[in-house]
Amino acid sequence: MKKTGLVYHQDYLKHNTGQNHPENAQRLLALLDCLKKDFSWNHLKLIKPCNPSIKWIEKIHTKDYISSIEKACKDGLWMLDADTIISPDSYKVAVLAVGGVLSALDEVATKKVKNAFCAIRPPGHHADTEKAMGFCIFNNIAIGARYAQKRHKLKKVLIVDWDAHHGNGIQNIFYDDPTVFYFSVHQFPHYPGTGEDKEEGNGEGEGFTMNMPMCAGSGDLEYIEVFENILYPSAKKFCPDLILISAGFDGHKDDPLSNLNLTSNGFRRLTEVVVKLAEECCEGRVVSVLEGGYNLKALSESVVSHLSAFVEGYEKKE
Ligand SMILES: [Zn+2]
Repeated sequence: MKKTGLVYHQDYLKHNTGQNHPENAQRLLALLDCLKKDFSWNHLKLIKPCNPSIKWIEKIHTKDYISSIEKACKDGLWMLDADTIISPDSYKVAVLAVGGVLSALDEVATKKVKNAFCAIRPPGHHADTEKAMGFCIFNNIAIGARYAQKRHKLKKVLIVDWDAHHGNGIQNIFYDDPTVFYFSVHQFPHYPGTGEDKEEGNGEGEGFTMNMPMCAGSGDLEYIEVFENILYPSAKKFCPDLILISAGFDGHKDDPLSNLNLTSNGFRRLTEVVVKLAEECCEGRVVSVLEGGYNLKALSESVVSHLSAFVEGYEKKE
């Protein structure tokens, strides 16, 4: 039976945002501890992130923007926007986060693993072509989508973004593009302010962006309904060659950065819908990439639940 890939590297801890910042290194440590304790590790294959060629990052971000991040880190700047803190190593770590997604894609595309989860940071879905925001520097998922298309000829990519916040960066990047179907379900109104249902794409991309704004207080039932009744049929029609998940777990009921009501088991149910779609459309190819999730316990338990739906015939560790 093929394993599920897990991308991790200890250098991801070197993006130092300070202990009081919600997006800090403890998140990955907590999540790994919980996986070691509560998950059957033998279902997983550890994938080492590559150090990617910058040309892949340039498929999404401008050269000027990329070098401005490198320079900001070298010069010892500590803020890219009001929320996005950096440290001297952040540029290298952000590049390695992209490398994690590309390595996961290589393993999934060549069938070395069945699917994969990238435990990476900094997150990416708010980052735009020339702008860092909302804790995000490079748009890991968007770069991954282009890489899959160019390197592995996986032409049609579905991005499912269930982070509590709308992934404005991903939406902007692919707004005119019919080859990438962006589906986002998020609290609305909420940061960053975009993601209304009337935002549906533009030109050839019209209909290939789908936003599901959810009221504060929405939880497992409302989300599962959206996944089964809206995502599932729309995605079947699109018939992707690859599915990427912008996996933010900040919609959990205990998360400090949203007012949603999802449970860790709810994330398992959402994953099951995505896995079913992947099996029916694209030989099971799914790469999931960590975005938000700021309550350490809620994040860790949600990731365990998420991964349990990735593993065929998974049985809970006793
Ligand atoms: Zn978020």
